[in-house]
Amino acid sequence: MPAPTLQPPTRNAVTTIRDDGSRPFLFPTDPQGRFTRARRVSAFALIAFYLSLPWIRIGGYPAVFLDVAERRFHLFGVTLPPQDLWLLFFVITGLGFSLFFVTALLGRIWCGWACPQTVFLDHVYRRIERWIDGDAIKRRALDRAPWSARKIFKRAAKHASYLLVSAVITHLFLAYFVSLAEVWSMVRAAPAEHWGAFGFIAVATGALYFNFAWFREQLCIVICPYGRIQSALIDDHSLVIGYDTARGEPRRSVADARRWADVSPMKSGDCVDCARCVQVCPTGIDIRQGLQMECIGCTACIDACDDVMTRLHRPRGLIRYDSQKAFAGKRTRWLRPRTVVYGVLLLVGAIVATWALSTVKAANVGVTRMTGAPYIVDDVTVRNQFLVRIVNKRNEPARFTVHIASAPVGVRQIGLASVVEVGPLGEVVQPLVLQQARETYAGPFRFEVRVADVTGRFHLERKVEFLGPEARLLRDKTSPR
Ligand code: SF4
Ligand code: SF4
Repeated sequence: MPAPTLQPPTRNAVTTIRDDGSRPFLFPTDPQGRFTRARRVSAFALIAFYLSLPWIRIGGYPAVFLDVAERRFHLFGVTLPPQDLWLLFFVITGLGFSLFFVTALLGRIWCGWACPQTVFLDHVYRRIERWIDGDAIKRRALDRAPWSARKIFKRAAKHASYLLVSAVITHLFLAYFVSLAEVWSMVRAAPAEHWGAFGFIAVATGALYFNFAWFREQLCIVICPYGRIQSALIDDHSLVIGYDTARGEPRRSVADARRWADVSPMKSGDCVDCARCVQVCPTGIDIRQGLQMECIGCTACIDACDDVMTRLHRPRGLIRYDSQKAFAGKRTRWLRPRTVVYGVLLLVGAIVATWALSTVKAANVGVTRMTGAPYIVDDVTVRNQFLVRIVNKRNEPARFTVHIASAPVGVRQIGLASVVEVGPLGEVVQPLVLQQARETYAGPFRFEVRVADVTGRFHLERKVEFLGPEARLLRDKTSPR
């Protein structure tokens, strides 16, 4: 049965969702042109970046290794232990503000050029589809053709390739969390030995396959919240991909334009109504009807229209990157309240993040009182016992000295008196005992435990209280009756 035809796109309805809720599958024509070439280079660079990160080792760890099991994040040679994960707050908010700022200036540049959905769909999955099924006309014809050995073979080859690519992407994604060596060892082991990882791979591969083989533009249109948020982030001065109505209208085919030129003084616009811009659109919209939420800024319509204009010896840019103001013949203002506010927020965030980073030390120290009695009093001394925990956050061994400060004269430090060695990203817990002679004891006091890196790069202090009975009571107990 032939597939139902696509409704002509309108601004008031989503082209890929019919009135009855069914979805016509799109077969967009493959664009060619300068933006497509530039996007291809950028997409391959991004894919290479994504695929190579688990292989590149910096400081003994993969460049990006989100070691959830050990609760440590290794990011380009910097290791964030659990105590420093709060720094990710700045990374996440920084990314959010960057997206706000960039969107206010450049519209959906992220969607068209860097979003993994667009990058993998346009430059991996659609490429496979082109190799196996041919161009858009052949793809559409194959879709409508009855089942035959050729169609079954092509469908099997295409979907097997999709599954294989989805599995590779998923395995590499898992390597970001458990390292490549661990993924490789899990791949060689039976699924029963790693049910969790196996389940994750199976579900994620299935989800990727479903998304890239079938769901495609629907993710951008009906699921991704950013498409909706962007309408609040952009204004008439933001850069968008749009159609120059003043130049393009009234649109007429070349033949019509020639005929009308003989009978009408009204000049024809540059748009020849060839619909190439609609045929290449991966979300099925007609950009000539104005800016629409479904536009992911993929530039395909720019390249398609530029090609038509070049063939007709007319200037390129009937569809182009510009602001809504510029399309209306007015001036684009880059400096405006929302770009200033987003820019200032970004700057303030960057300053606070830099300050926060500068306060992070390469070690962490904790001092806790040992369980049991808070202090011990014997015939000659009052004693307090603590546990000192030193965490080395660097990927190399470190040596520390431990001293007490601000303690009264006569307080003795027992334990941790020599240099403490802590392995890379390791931790050491050792007892620290403080004791004071009863005759010099004058009651509880506060003191500092100072842990210093032997290289002199930094030191850390922890304030602790030495507990004991009131000195008067102690004296009463010891004085002869
Ligand atoms: S309107 Fe143009 S830029 Fe927007 S999604 Fe369609 S082809 Fe891409
Ligand atoms: S590709 Fe250009 S000329 Fe053709 S319909 Fe679209 S805007 Fe008009």
